Amino acid sequence: MTKRFGRGRGAVVGAAAVLALLAGCGAVPSSAPEIGGGSAVPPRPTGVEELTAPPSAPAVAAPSCDATASLRPSGPLPAAGRMPGGSTMARIAERGRLTVGVDQNTYLMGFRNPFSGELEGFDVDMAREVARAIFGDPTRIQFKVLTSEERIPALENREVDVVVRTMTVNCERWQKVAFSSVYYQAGQRVLVPSTSDVTGIESLGGRKVCATKGSSSLANVAGAPAGPIAVSVPNWTDCLVLLQQGQVDAISTDNTILAGFAAQDPYTKVVGPQFTAEPYGMAFPRPDEDFVRFVNALLERLRSDGTWASIHGRWLGAPPAPPVAAYRD
Ligand code: GLU
Repeated sequence: MTKRFGRGRGAVVGAAAVLALLAGCGAVPSSAPEIGGGSAVPPRPTGVEELTAPPSAPAVAAPSCDATASLRPSGPLPAAGRMPGGSTMARIAERGRLTVGVDQNTYLMGFRNPFSGELEGFDVDMAREVARAIFGDPTRIQFKVLTSEERIPALENREVDVVVRTMTVNCERWQKVAFSSVYYQAGQRVLVPSTSDVTGIESLGGRKVCATKGSSSLANVAGAPAGPIAVSVPNWTDCLVLLQQGQVDAISTDNTILAGFAAQDPYTKVVGPQFTAEPYGMAFPRPDEDFVRFVNALLERLRSDGTWASIHGRWLGAPPAPPVAAYRD
């Protein structure tokens, strides 16, 4: 009992830290736990669902494919400000800004800096390199904040030119969008309160595990052999609030996202090995193959000229070798 109380107090401090970090971020649940309050049942973030069946199980299984193989660059990168006539990039240049779908809830990858109000992180910096390649100016960009679930519809409806948002390339998604070559190799793990005895996904049978709706993380939790109870929410920070309130036993998603949580809340820890591979690609409307090839030429340059390594160093620590590009044509 004493232990649980201790955890509860930690949770309030942790929640306050998260709220401070993400202040001004509209996606933080407005119903934050009362600090020092007497309410017995803390209010939940909205949009919480408990799954009894695997999420978005495709009616017909997606055909197998090499999801990490993208479209080969068609030649050297054109100079900034000189996009080939009639290309998707020329249309973007004419508009005067690149529109990019990002996250504002994932510390280190895509988050809103509460002091500057600016979006920052590894994915945001990668997106700025695309704007720089088109315009010669990384600020010619308009961000649209998307949840995991909103990524594919935003591309299908052409609300954005590209999504750079911790997005795993997989065969099911390739049926609806196109992906760049892999620009980050993530993998799914588990985050629990630091007092928890959970050692990984295998010890979560019958226990509640949070992930966002529309994420591959949720499908991986729902399909885990141990049989955890998958709980879905709109935003990753909603998962952290549920964990801090003791309403779920764990969060399971990419190591990148969990690293951000662990940095935000010292009363949490990442446990167990990676149990999936989550290679990230930038995602595009399916027909925009010229833009995919352009970005792949850019990614080749960012990998070889040290830009990828310096962006990695800024957000995620000492860089490993960047992922090697694979192409399907
Ligand atoms: N990489 C996973 C995905 O693409 C989880 C990340 C997220 O949803 O933000 O679904």
